[in-house]
Amino acid sequence: MLKKQINPKKTVGKRLLSVLILLTMLAGMLAGCKADQDTMQHELNILDDNYRNFYEIFVASFYDSDGDGMGDLNGVTEKLDYIQDMGFTGIWLMPVMPAPSYHKYDTTDYRDIDEAYGTLEDFENLLRECHERGIYVVIDFVINHSSNQHPWFLEACDYLSNLPEGQEPDAQECPYVEYYHFSREQVNSSYAEIPGGGWYYEAVFYYTQPDLNWENEAVREEFDEITKFWVDLGVDGFRVDAAMHFNDSDTEENLEILNRLYTCGLSVNPDFYMVSEVWANESTVAKYYESLTPSMFNFDTCSAEGKLVRAAKGSSDATKLVHAMLDYQETFSAENPDYIDAPFLTNHDQVRVANNLQSNENDLKMACGLLMMMSGNPFVYYGEEIGMSSKGTKDENKRLPMLWSDTDKIGMTEKPEGADDGIESAFPAVDEQLEDPNSLLNYYKRALRLRNENPEIARGTITIVESLCEGDQAVITKTYDGSTIGIVYNTSDDTLELSLAGTELTDMELRGELTLNGERVTLAEDVLQMPPQSVCILK
Ligand code: CA
Repeated sequence: MLKKQINPKKTVGKRLLSVLILLTMLAGMLAGCKADQDTMQHELNILDDNYRNFYEIFVASFYDSDGDGMGDLNGVTEKLDYIQDMGFTGIWLMPVMPAPSYHKYDTTDYRDIDEAYGTLEDFENLLRECHERGIYVVIDFVINHSSNQHPWFLEACDYLSNLPEGQEPDAQECPYVEYYHFSREQVNSSYAEIPGGGWYYEAVFYYTQPDLNWENEAVREEFDEITKFWVDLGVDGFRVDAAMHFNDSDTEENLEILNRLYTCGLSVNPDFYMVSEVWANESTVAKYYESLTPSMFNFDTCSAEGKLVRAAKGSSDATKLVHAMLDYQETFSAENPDYIDAPFLTNHDQVRVANNLQSNENDLKMACGLLMMMSGNPFVYYGEEIGMSSKGTKDENKRLPMLWSDTDKIGMTEKPEGADDGIESAFPAVDEQLEDPNSLLNYYKRALRLRNENPEIARGTITIVESLCEGDQAVITKTYDGSTIGIVYNTSDDTLELSLAGTELTDMELRGELTLNGERVTLAEDVLQMPPQSVCILK
């Protein structure tokens, strides 16, 4: 029997839809999954709440539906079977609103879709198709700054440059002069001069991205309406860009703004979700949970020196990792008991994990395995599941075309302008990896499946089984809704033999495993045997 828990806030229509989705998934599972035939498999137990497995997509580089070389929204729609089949239950679309740059983190219209990506109708179609599959759609919400081509900014600059000598700007005449931080002086080096000269504006990131003045109530009201526009349309959540920078010198104000956005989203959809970018250490991230918004990206887990990669390659041990997990739980829940952690290996701003791990396939699998045992909502950057590479620190090189096939170029996009030529991936393309049961891609699929079978992984409260933790071996339990699982980690390069006798795990049975290449975990008479770099779940 399929177990299904429904959030009481959900509508009846959504419930019926969710049941259909589960039946469809079960049918798919029975029909195929060659790679999983030999491993133990349990029924999917996907709950319809805000705990999700997210896939981050750079639309321009993902899939091109019409052959113009540019990835587009219809391309994402075409690839939803792939996304669903992998086990993702949510997507984060990097900015889709009109913007002059290739990356689109500089919006010129907060109520439309960039024409290179398609139309609002295409977007609504994507939403519909996602929701039919039980997939959440989270869009990048870039509100710290607009584009310097945004009509608000252009109008303000035009007004200021025509202002008679000695006259002060009047917001009654041009309200947009108070939408940004304009000054006659170059206040500091982050101020750029307006096109006509004579005035400066704050642009912390780049001169094409003027910072909005969030102290202005009119700006806040604009974004209340913009929030309602997207949530009304059916967007499930926002990924809030640069949340630390709304006011660079006033954290409390930033918390207030995040809370306001979230409250506004909730007023339209009681299940509204939000994850914010606070690119900072753990204590600062914890501070932002005071905003009482659901998720902050957990930057302590990501990139070359992050906890996950270090544990995967063995430069830090599994015991340290589980203690970090407990620490996140204590630190974040102290600020927001309803927090949902958002761990990840890398995102579009970072060197790809394949580079961080020297394209070592075992370490990449281990990193995925560790990520997928984390609490909260894991975020996977497109291409990570096939071990795509980046080059250097240039952003364009981190956002290369998704490698669907080495032979069939249909749907493949052109690389972003400015990206280097000849950046090779150490691993085969999607089509080839799908056929290989021991590929990195199929490891991701197994890991996501394990997550989707066991809701305790994302939602459970962690305790550490101290007596079984030592160096590269670590054991925790997670309890959710009266059900407890054990998670056992062996991050070493050796086989681990572990007696569970006399611990919380004594009477548990093996429920699932993640091993590098199909090796088996065994449990007999309370003795667990685990191959190198493996994880297992007991219940
Ligand atoms: Ca296209």
